Amino acid sequence: MKYGIIGYPVEHSLSPVMHEAGFRELGIDAQYHRIPLHPTELAEGLAFLLELGYSGINVTYPLKEAVLPFLDKVNPQASEIGAVNTIKVVDGGLQGYNTDGDGFVQALKEQGYDFTGRKVVILGAGGSAKSIAASLAHLPIKEILILNRTEEKARILVELVHSLGGQASGEAFISGDWLKKVDLLIQTTSVGMRGESYPLSLQGINPSAWVIDLIYHPPLTKFLAEAESLGCRTMNGLDMLIWQGALAWKIWLDREAPVAQMRRALLDNYIKRG
Ligand code: NDP
Repeated sequence: MKYGIIGYPVEHSLSPVMHEAGFRELGIDAQYHRIPLHPTELAEGLAFLLELGYSGINVTYPLKEAVLPFLDKVNPQASEIGAVNTIKVVDGGLQGYNTDGDGFVQALKEQGYDFTGRKVVILGAGGSAKSIAASLAHLPIKEILILNRTEEKARILVELVHSLGGQASGEAFISGDWLKKVDLLIQTTSVGMRGESYPLSLQGINPSAWVIDLIYHPPLTKFLAEAESLGCRTMNGLDMLIWQGALAWKIWLDREAPVAQMRRALLDNYIKRG
């Protein structure tokens, strides 16, 4: 069987490391490839992957939204977000799913986090924020505040959460009262990937808050380091990566992924990269 990840660029994707470790662990005869695909080549690229007999495809930046018109079927969750990160090939047709938001939720549940009655703040309103906000909208969370550099995008996300029955409000980036009250703070912007500081201080944050940064390379962003120094429990994006992949296994293979072995392979790869 053949699986792969499409995106542009994809050379740095860790998905092959994780999925191939899972296939080896369970003795599944399958390969997982990185497939660079420019948005302008999407139609031909997908047709070619079908010809080559691929059974499943992950989708990453910048194709998650662009891929939708080329799919034969899109499940309700992916269609409410308007983005797909997992494709399953069924009888020669392409079926789209999105496991990002549920992968995030599962990563926290694995650590024993209970979302009930929590006050959540999401920093950023891009694709990953959207998937997470949509998954959180279905949980018994007290409220979600969405803060983004471009306020208009925060408002669009707030409307999505409302349309799914959740409670949310949105604003431009500001520090304020919310820092004292937040239970779960989720950093979803790309700020910090190159070692840069975050444009918002966490001074005064509720020390019992959990603080998550979706970035996993570097493993400890300045944002997470500040949260840690203020006594918060922290987590980077590696577990979300693992769980969105594990949920893709359920869709592709209808079986549980060997999460522990997949995590081990990713951590070994981290150590090799230094
Ligand atoms: P998008 O491009 O869709 O969104 C980017 C977001 O970052 C926007 O809200 C944008 O704000 C904000 N932003 C960018 N630059 C700045 C800046 N200088 N100051 C303030 N805000 C800024 O990206 P994604 O949501 O797809 O990905 C975001 C991050 O999440 C990436 O680092 C990615 O690697 C990570 N990620 C991790 C995953 C995991 O499994 N761990 C899964 C998916 C993503 P504005 O709207 O104002 O432009």
